Amino acid sequence: MKRFSFFALARNALTGHRNWAQMWRSPEPRREYDAVIIGGGGHGLGTAYYLARNHGMSNVAVFEKGWLGGGNTGRNTMTVRSNFLREESVPFHEKSLDLYQGLSRELNFNLMVSERGMITFIQSSAVNRIALQMANTMHIYGAEYRMIGLDEVRRRIPIFDPSPDMRLPITGAVYQPRASMVRHDAVAWGFARGADARGVDIIQNCEVTGIRRDGGRITGVETNRGFIATPRVGMAVAGHGSVVAAMAGIRLPIVTQPLQAWVSEPIKPILDEIVVIRSYYGTYLMQSDKGEIVIGQGCDPYPSYAQRGTFPIIEDATTAMLEVFPRFRRLRLLRHWAGMLDMPYDGSPIISRTDVPGFYVDVAGSGGFKTTPAAAYTFAHLIARDEPHPLAARLGLDRFSSGRLVQEGGVSANR
Ligand SMILES: Cc1cc2nc3c(=O)[nH]c(=O)nc-3n(C[C@H](O)[C@H](O)[C@H](O)COP(=O)(O)OP(=O)(O)OC[C@H]3O[C@@H](n4cnc5c(N)ncnc54)[C@H](O)[C@@H]3O)c2cc1C
Repeated sequence: MKRFSFFALARNALTGHRNWAQMWRSPEPRREYDAVIIGGGGHGLGTAYYLARNHGMSNVAVFEKGWLGGGNTGRNTMTVRSNFLREESVPFHEKSLDLYQGLSRELNFNLMVSERGMITFIQSSAVNRIALQMANTMHIYGAEYRMIGLDEVRRRIPIFDPSPDMRLPITGAVYQPRASMVRHDAVAWGFARGADARGVDIIQNCEVTGIRRDGGRITGVETNRGFIATPRVGMAVAGHGSVVAAMAGIRLPIVTQPLQAWVSEPIKPILDEIVVIRSYYGTYLMQSDKGEIVIGQGCDPYPSYAQRGTFPIIEDATTAMLEVFPRFRRLRLLRHWAGMLDMPYDGSPIISRTDVPGFYVDVAGSGGFKTTPAAAYTFAHLIARDEPHPLAARLGLDRFSSGRLVQEGGVSANR
């Protein structure tokens, strides 16, 4: 595996930065692979990495129609957490946090994992009830999640200064110490380098335009670089799931919606925690390492393939933020962007076989950055063994026909 050391850094600094080793190769695609992954975001690259590392499968290609991490992986607000309501969700998200904590070392790539803690304000009795339910589920799985009073909130957030005219007064909060921020580009690049070092071919600017089958089984993919034969295709294309699945003749129980975020000009360090305002479907904000206040909310509530959000969301989230932190009223907005997400009907990820043998789907959903390592880990297991990993056994497509949904939508699925 390639290693970068202090000496390499010094040598490159002294030689005009002309001798850096490439992070990954740009090979010509082979005509045949044991498995093909569609989508070069964190999920696709992580899956390729774990296929090679955990299952000894290195005759694998990742096809990305643009550039690595250029989809939602490079657009998200970088929060990772495991505070969920259902017993199927908590261990899965805890596994992701566990993996995140070890990945910088394992990949020898600094993912800048910053354990900030998340404070969710309680502003109604309904939210209070859900927070208690969530805390109970989390405790069963050994995950720390606790109710805190306003004194502790003030201690943790010295600038907490809610307006007395708040529409929904804050009565307390619930706290997950382990919630973190992780550098999103680094996740894609770290997995890419790790997969490449194990022999995986990563092909950028290569769009999958069709999926070929013979007698029902997958035989390969059509791309703008020609036909590539393979018996196994894994799809990890957040925001394009319906389009790619339709190439295999599959209709997924998802709807594609825009999700937006925006950041202020940078200011001095003032906010250590990740803060959630107005229930679990609410506004969230945190301060980036660069000093920007990063702000977001739930998805825009309509289907769209435009990577563009609407103004009412910005207005609503900004109002909520200013009710709690009136001193932010003079902050200037620096940048705004959006991505598009495939939202499963119950708000939980889908990691599943399909009715087409050899075609597997990973639908990240609304909070798929936090699940990246666990989804990749379990998706690789599924593709390599054609058997669901126990952690993702309840996240298959069969839950939509059996009615055993893993309902997180509208409760804890956002962000
Ligand atoms: C504004 C915003 C904020 C967010 N904040 C958070 C957050 O704080 N925490 C959190 O957990 N989640 C967050 N998310 C969600 C998270 O970013 C996504 O769920 C996650 O990144 C999905 O990763 P992925 O690898 O599945 O998809 P992507 O990173 O979108 O990668 C999919 C790739 O597939 C490629 N592709 C598509 N079709 C084809 C094709 N036919 N052929 C080849 N390649 C193709 C695309 O170009 C893309 O690069 C946020 C999302 C947005 C938009």
